Amino acid sequence: MPTEPDADVRLDFPLADGVARRGDAERAGILDAPGFGKHFTDHMARAVWTPDGWGEDAVVAHAPLVLSPAAAVLHYAQEIFEGLKAYRHEDGSVWAFRPEANARRFARSARRLALPVLPESAFLRSIEQLVAADLDWVPTGGENSLYLRPFMFASESFLGVRPAKEVTYLCIASPAGAYFGDGEIQPVSIWLSQEYTRAAPGGTGAAKCGGNYAASLQAQAEAAAHGCDQVAFLDAVESRWVEELGGMNLFFVLDDGTLVTPELTGTILEGVTRTSVLQIARDLGHEVEERRVDVAEWRDGCASGRVREVFACGTAAVVTPVGALVEPGSRAVPGDGGTGEVTAAIRRRLTDVQLGRAEDVHGWMHRLV
Ligand SMILES: *Cc1c(COP(=O)(O)O)cnc(C)c1O
Repeated sequence: MPTEPDADVRLDFPLADGVARRGDAERAGILDAPGFGKHFTDHMARAVWTPDGWGEDAVVAHAPLVLSPAAAVLHYAQEIFEGLKAYRHEDGSVWAFRPEANARRFARSARRLALPVLPESAFLRSIEQLVAADLDWVPTGGENSLYLRPFMFASESFLGVRPAKEVTYLCIASPAGAYFGDGEIQPVSIWLSQEYTRAAPGGTGAAKCGGNYAASLQAQAEAAAHGCDQVAFLDAVESRWVEELGGMNLFFVLDDGTLVTPELTGTILEGVTRTSVLQIARDLGHEVEERRVDVAEWRDGCASGRVREVFACGTAAVVTPVGALVEPGSRAVPGDGGTGEVTAAIRRRLTDVQLGRAEDVHGWMHRLV
């Protein structure tokens, strides 16, 4: 399979000439209240793969695509994506948080979806070039950031079922406000999916692919119908072991200060935030355990006081306290239902590193500009 990176492939993503830029006033208006995923910058990075290798790399105008209605992605969902943020520090420099980890995960996802591997150097270069072109779009202040969305899909016009022979890589960028706005962090409520699972052994649960999200939407709608913010999935075999939310990993803080997160068994997405939280928890002196978590441990632990705090984590929402676990006829709330101390301390340390307010002792920040 022609999916391994060519060792000497060199993609530079040069900036195309003559891309129109929106004016200062329009941009300032957007950056004033960016929301999430609604507004996009002036440019995007692009490269195209064929069996001859990668090419056509450039930073071009962010504009609608011309795509064949027979493009394989529209029929068979051969697609993967990433999500990471660029932060502007007080001195004006711009940094990404652990983008090498996203590049490696992008490569793992590509292998699972039979897509070509974009070399790590090319992934990083595309981000550097895009952010340099759209530097004025990196917000300042608070927890604002520029959300980066690299993705890759089967653009070949062909209805046969096999790995595509033309694949398009794009990276778009979207200014993002703090997830919780200016208000206080609010715990989210979680619906325990009764009928639907997210990932089965041997499936694509460990890959970051759009198909996983398509399969989670009905469960998310069910959560909303029950008045919940998010849905949690159990394992597909025994319907017993806690896996994760639709797009966030889960952590439990026990009464002795130990942090527990479900172990990676191939059906859970390995979050960069999850890995970072494990390290920060150790740095703050907590014991950490990656192991199976029975949903009864969550439910009963709230009642007994053994589970003191629950939180979810991911790039978009960083660290989010979890309030109620809602099931038909039951509602389990850890602690007093507010934001726990450990959750708040881990969230603060992580955002302080990302925003340049705390020393980056693990070398997680990658300077872009
Ligand atoms: C992206 C994602 C996460 C969080 O990963 P981060 O790298 O921390 O943003 C968790 N679960 C799923 C299913 C995801 O797609």
